[in-house]
Amino acid sequence: MARDPRYDVLFEPVPLGPVTARNRFFQVPHCNGMGHRDPTAHAVMRGVKAEGGWAVVCTEEVEIHPTSDVGGYIEGRLWDDADIPAHERLVEQVHAHGSLAGIEFVHNGMAEGNFYGRIPPLGPSHLPVTTNEPIQARAMSREDIADLRRRHRQAVRRSLQAGYDVVYVYAAHGLTTLQHFLSRRYNLREDEYGGTLGNRARLLREVLEDTLEECEGRAAVACRLVVDELLGDEGLERPEIEQLFALVGELPDVWDVMVGFWPDDSRTSRFTHEAWTEEHFRGLKQLTSKPVVGIGWLTSPDTMVRLIRDGVIDLIGAARPSIADPFLPVKIEEGRPEDIRECIGCNVCVTGDWTSTPIRCTQNPSMGEEWRRGWHPERFRPAGSDSKVLVVGGGPAGLEAALALGRRGYEVTLAEATRELGGRVLHEARLPGLAAWIRVVDYRRAQLAKLPNVEIALESEVTAEEVGGYDFDHVAVATGARWRADGVGRCHTRPIPLDLADVLTPDDLFAGRRPAGGRVLIFDDDHYYLGGALAELLAAEGRQVTLATPAGRVSEWTINTMEQPRIHRRLVDAGVELLPDRALVAVANGEARLRDTLTDREWTLPVDAVVLVTARLPNDALALELGATAVGDAYAPGTIATAVWDGRRYAEELDGEPHGDAVPFRREVVELAPLGEQVSVR
Ligand code: ADP
Ligand code: SF4
Repeated sequence: MARDPRYDVLFEPVPLGPVTARNRFFQVPHCNGMGHRDPTAHAVMRGVKAEGGWAVVCTEEVEIHPTSDVGGYIEGRLWDDADIPAHERLVEQVHAHGSLAGIEFVHNGMAEGNFYGRIPPLGPSHLPVTTNEPIQARAMSREDIADLRRRHRQAVRRSLQAGYDVVYVYAAHGLTTLQHFLSRRYNLREDEYGGTLGNRARLLREVLEDTLEECEGRAAVACRLVVDELLGDEGLERPEIEQLFALVGELPDVWDVMVGFWPDDSRTSRFTHEAWTEEHFRGLKQLTSKPVVGIGWLTSPDTMVRLIRDGVIDLIGAARPSIADPFLPVKIEEGRPEDIRECIGCNVCVTGDWTSTPIRCTQNPSMGEEWRRGWHPERFRPAGSDSKVLVVGGGPAGLEAALALGRRGYEVTLAEATRELGGRVLHEARLPGLAAWIRVVDYRRAQLAKLPNVEIALESEVTAEEVGGYDFDHVAVATGARWRADGVGRCHTRPIPLDLADVLTPDDLFAGRRPAGGRVLIFDDDHYYLGGALAELLAAEGRQVTLATPAGRVSEWTINTMEQPRIHRRLVDAGVELLPDRALVAVANGEARLRDTLTDREWTLPVDAVVLVTARLPNDALALELGATAVGDAYAPGTIATAVWDGRRYAEELDGEPHGDAVPFRREVVELAPLGEQVSVR
């Protein structure tokens, strides 16, 4: 189908200095937990984005020298020539599909403790590093500044050797020395690099000039800049940004702008909306003649067109929308925007970086698996037989299994007990702030409707006897899991005494049951979003809610989605009483007994109801009875992302060779270096 002319503007080429982006889709740098450890997996992932139509495809932040490493996080490296081949591979993958490859250099300076290189971190001033590591950054001498500039130049040279087309100078996210010099908060210097904005911008200007000189028109120079640090008058704000543009606005070939720190930039849908950055970006284009790329959780082509037409940005910056759907541009171009797999804004992708494991995505189970398992976001291996497959359960696992099996060409029946597809997502997307999560269901429901070989049977509760009567060759049981009502979880591995009428689980609340009385204790031993979201729900309904958790912080695992501080604040604002480091040990006589997990001290809290968010049990009875394969939460309860991934895995592996004891995915093993001379230990 031809593309809708109203989207034509998105496919106009944009000159970026000496190179030209073939359209306006710009995959801005993003971390992926693969970086220098998994270079081929990383390269192939970027290649798939290029194949999907992104005109510019960038790396994550790439360290230029061991004087500033990103600690335990797995990012890119270009320390010396030994790192060039990995980058050449990435560039090859991107160029193979006609896109431009971009590289974002980073000197983290005082943003990291430099634990790998063990070299004291460097910054504009003698200040502790911005993480809570027990290390201080050393104020850079003029010699240190000269070293940084030289090393940045060397990295640029190496990147050109690797074939990059766009080279970044990075002063954003609170993560780089160039920003720390710019920022009044961190730059306390009294020399020509401190004080006035002109002085604080000196290093940025010098590095921009160095980079332009090195590139000599062979690659575009991009500058990624924070345009409001969101620190009030302690940090960079619009008046200084305007001054900065007056100083260096014409230097780079393209501006890539962002707001705040990384948790601000990549805020989840629970705390933001599409194009939230617009108010910060308006007017920036008037400060420079160079094109401006900007992000803002942009997933809808209509919003993208509006931002271009309104003169807010020139290029559609995207990290998460390109992760959820690497083929977003191609789908718009081919006139099928309804096929876009829209990002739900959950930040599961971000957890890859925070846990130093390959990136995964709730919506796109092939993310991070392109090379490791040979999965593609759009293409599927043909079916290995003409088997008929029954998928039981229409939650995220069953939906994904049915979709991937259908795309492989199998004849599939998807049976769902209730009258609606979606499983847990149907309920969770109704919680405060999680509405965008329904996209997990919407996308799959719409795609399944396009497959003539997939039949959907609603209100069809499947029993073992029934299955015996049909002639399915395979049965995948994706019947989900149920929340426990006995307190068992991480903290207690045996049931706890609960002598109270109103002991509820999340499933009860999803089913519409509510506590009879007003005082509700939520015991969250799950530590992800659900306990906090239920607290928000019950507080909004007028109940007096206390949230107790054995962890030191509420919704502790959401540190990895960068939501934890926002969740804390939202709950406090909603009037929820927060009790971290507290375990529920028993309920009797209208009182909950709580124990401090650090001191073992106990006390009681009067309650009318208790909601237990502790652990789940798989609904695996049908699978066990049939001897069939359980998939998703029915196999092992996990996140929506793990359920979707498992549905895909089931479909991918059907009729394949069993892995047996072999490692079930490809990996790269470090080549041993020569042993070299050792200091004798004798
Ligand atoms: P997952 O996250 O693994 O996909 P969910 O709990 O979200 O699991 O979804 C499980 C789905 O399976 C629910 O929609 C539920 O109604 C459905 N289901 C459970 N048991 C049966 C059954 N015996 N027959 C058909 N559908 C079932
Ligand atoms: Fe979007 Fe969630 Fe996928 Fe990240 S993991 S790209 S936030 S859907």
